[in-house]
Amino acid sequence: MQLLRSAFIALSHNRFLRNFSERSRVGVRLSSRFVAGMEIDDALRVAEAVNKQGMTVSLDSLGESVTSEAEAHTAAEVYHRLLDAIAARKLDANISVKLTQMGLSLSPALAEGIAESLARHAAAVGNFVRIDMEDSSLTQVTLDIVRRLHALPELRGAIGIVIQSYLYRSQSDVEQLLADGIRIRLCKGAYKEPAEVAFPSKADVDSNYIRLSCMMLDSPIFHGLATHDEAMIAAAKSFAAQHGIAPSRFEFQMLFGVRRDLQRRLVREGYKVRVYVPFGHDWYPYFMRRLAERPANVIFLAKNFFRS
Ligand SMILES: Cc1cc2nc3c(=O)[nH]c(=O)nc-3n(C[C@H](O)[C@H](O)[C@H](O)COP(=O)(O)OP(=O)(O)OC[C@H]3O[C@@H](n4cnc5c(N)ncnc54)[C@H](O)[C@@H]3O)c2cc1C
Repeated sequence: MQLLRSAFIALSHNRFLRNFSERSRVGVRLSSRFVAGMEIDDALRVAEAVNKQGMTVSLDSLGESVTSEAEAHTAAEVYHRLLDAIAARKLDANISVKLTQMGLSLSPALAEGIAESLARHAAAVGNFVRIDMEDSSLTQVTLDIVRRLHALPELRGAIGIVIQSYLYRSQSDVEQLLADGIRIRLCKGAYKEPAEVAFPSKADVDSNYIRLSCMMLDSPIFHGLATHDEAMIAAAKSFAAQHGIAPSRFEFQMLFGVRRDLQRRLVREGYKVRVYVPFGHDWYPYFMRRLAERPANVIFLAKNFFRS
């Protein structure tokens, strides 16, 4: 299984396959299980449908590291349009943003400036920007940018971050972020990291996830627990019940197209669920990471493809 995971992660970086898949009709059709569509309107339509099912949304315009300042501004423009469209259509949705898509690898100042303008826009329309976490070489710079922006009184509460339980450093990062009053999305982590920085064993990643989620639930800040792992969800529910933490004080977050049964069950049980809805033409690396998480999805997708 580990071999298959590594193979999908390696394929996610393959330029030829990426160009071919993103342009092919079959590729686009397969991607529709995990990707809302290619255009802003597709994403808004899906967000509306998800809202109707009693769940909130975080919209992600797919795309990673950009190679010019102009590309970074173009990527940011999509998010500005999303913030306006969410307000105009009265959707219950926020946005998830990757700093490399905002030019972080070209210049941290460029990415910080763009993130600030998005957070100012979000604050003006009563919304929220979640900064996604990328690989461990970017953890510190991402934390620094979010903490600096959140320290501006007018942006307080309008920007939040993601912490990955596979990193050794995450407990002290969570402590710092809780002291700052910053909203956290906790996930296990999706990148291939060396044993110098991340727990190699799934059992350690999972027990750290539970430890960190309990710390977060114990704080007065509204956080998100991003996972499809029923053991993580059960641990959070039981900690909340034992400590009198109402289900309205936190949310579970899951990816579009993944464990839809579990998403609906949690809503029925009275929990808040936010669905992360990605869209856009650059869907290939995201799609391959989803296959890497669960290689059995390949069989599942193939069956559905030939059935339809
Ligand atoms: C809302 C959201 C936001 C995220 N943001 C980030 C981020 O900013 N940075 C980052 O590094 N990572 C992010 N991730 C990805 C995350 O780090 C994990 O890689 C991913 O969620 C899989 O971990 P898991 O907690 O679901 O548990 P796992 O232990 O991987 O899986 C537990 C169970 O969940 C189910 N499952 C998991 N993945 C799938 C799938 N693709 N298809 C079908 N079933 C599946 C399976 O039943 C599996 O047995 C995010 C995840 C979510 C849900």
